[in-house]
Amino acid sequence: MTDNSKIHVLIDSKTLQKKVKELGRQITKDYKDKKPVLIAVLKGSFIFVADICRHINVPVVFDFMAVSSYGNAKVSSGIVRITKDLDTNIEGKDVIIIEDIVDSGRTLNYLIKNLEARNPKSIEVCALLDKDVPRKIKNYIKYKGFDIPNRYVIGYGLDIGERFRNLSFIGYIDEE
Ligand code: 5GP
Repeated sequence: MTDNSKIHVLIDSKTLQKKVKELGRQITKDYKDKKPVLIAVLKGSFIFVADICRHINVPVVFDFMAVSSYGNAKVSSGIVRITKDLDTNIEGKDVIIIEDIVDSGRTLNYLIKNLEARNPKSIEVCALLDKDVPRKIKNYIKYKGFDIPNRYVIGYGLDIGERFRNLSFIGYIDEE
């Protein structure tokens, strides 16, 4: 069991909120006269989407998808599985995928291909965190919060074994 005193702050709550507001304003500008569908990728994006949507001042609708790529482990298995699919039809719609974090990029890559097959009008990606890892696959992020170092982070929706999602900041755990 990890002791909370070993958690270090990487991005504090104030900095997060400022960036989320900026991203929301940018999306508002770019989607003027449109009605985008925000597709949040569960579970990690639930706090991010709840915060950013309140800074998006165009009519939005929500849908949710859940994918499992890590299971309970900290290392990606490389296999992406949809555990909850969309409830709505996105054909002809402007879609914005709301992601918590992009690591290898496999999850995002899989999601984009999967959603493209449903013929939306457009797909863009808004990701709060982009990990500094060497990737062979294309980086699709249009609206990005922060570049972060390649380490396992928690908080603001992100977990380790389902814990720490409720931290108001992004942190990491001292492994020593
Ligand atoms: P990728 O497919 O890009 O390797 O991994 C993306 C997914 O893995 C994210 O949506 C997230 O659920 C999980 N993930 C990747 N890196 C981290 C991390 O540092 N912390 C946590 N909690 N989850 C991560």
